[in-house]
Amino acid sequence: MEPSEIALRTQGLTRRYGRREAVAELDVSVNVGDVYGFLGPNGAGKTTALRCMLGLIRYDSGRVEIFGETDPVKRLAKVGAIVETPSFHAWMSGRDNLRQAAAYASLSGAEADAEIQRVLERVGLTERAKDPAGSYSLGMRQRLGIARALLGRPKLLVLDEPTNGLDPRGMHEVRELVRSLALNDRITIVISSHLLAEVQQICNRVGILQDGRLRAEGSVASLLAAGGAAPIVDVGSPDRAALEAALRGMAGVELAGMGAEGRIRVLHPGLDLPGLTAALVRANVPIDAIVPLRRDLEEVFLEVTR
Ligand code: ATP
Repeated sequence: MEPSEIALRTQGLTRRYGRREAVAELDVSVNVGDVYGFLGPNGAGKTTALRCMLGLIRYDSGRVEIFGETDPVKRLAKVGAIVETPSFHAWMSGRDNLRQAAAYASLSGAEADAEIQRVLERVGLTERAKDPAGSYSLGMRQRLGIARALLGRPKLLVLDEPTNGLDPRGMHEVRELVRSLALNDRITIVISSHLLAEVQQICNRVGILQDGRLRAEGSVASLLAAGGAAPIVDVGSPDRAALEAALRGMAGVELAGMGAEGRIRVLHPGLDLPGLTAALVRANVPIDAIVPLRRDLEEVFLEVTR
């Protein structure tokens, strides 16, 4: 891939605390246009790695490149970020908090006003912009944080656990916002999370981190497809004895739940499904459905981090 198509890349990124490697020889690459999910169990090193990438803490060795730039100051020019919960002056309005952030970003006057208006609209906070930030819900504060990160039109947005602690509505709003920023504003996004269903919903690529090391990286589709889709066969009115007789000697097949609903779980994607079907028909076991059992990201994650 051309270097210009890489938004963020680390090579051999290592950060130690004492003798412990919080991040070890980390090589990740985020393509322009990705919504990249940075996954890992608690303590895997996600926050530490993001902090290193954003220049918030030093690292011991390795290389960080953002849009081809390695200089620690220059590479941040196109980056907006929230690492951990964003904090604001509670007594100041949302708009004034942004005004202050704009001043830090050397935006002033009419230019700053227009940019603040733009980001407030973008995150849906225009109507509450006059209210003190302290009166905002957690979800609104998170959106104000995203608004702040959007000042100056970054090309890469880094969000550390952006839906942490939010209620279902707040989570939904933040997810929709992230999706829309990627799709409509064409911002590349790196999002760290331990919520696998969330990552599966909004990310196209993921990196799975454990003990500071990258255990897997790739498109969500390819990680889910690896190993193939093993089917589940739903059998109607199952007669356990008949079923067991029919399945005798077929490796890779297990009875998964025999109650009102009979199910057979096929464990090997390479299994002879026509053979299994024929055996069931011979034994007079009626088949209601054969459905591919989709792996979800949780299964991939558990497998990779076992
Ligand atoms: P979580 O999901 O719990 O936030 P994480 O993947 O973000 O986890 P980190 O917070 O990056 O993980 O921590 C990685 C490792 O580095 C942990 O073992 C942690 O204890 C250690 N660590 C992080 N910060 C420090 C610090 N300032 N001093 C010493 N050790 C630290």
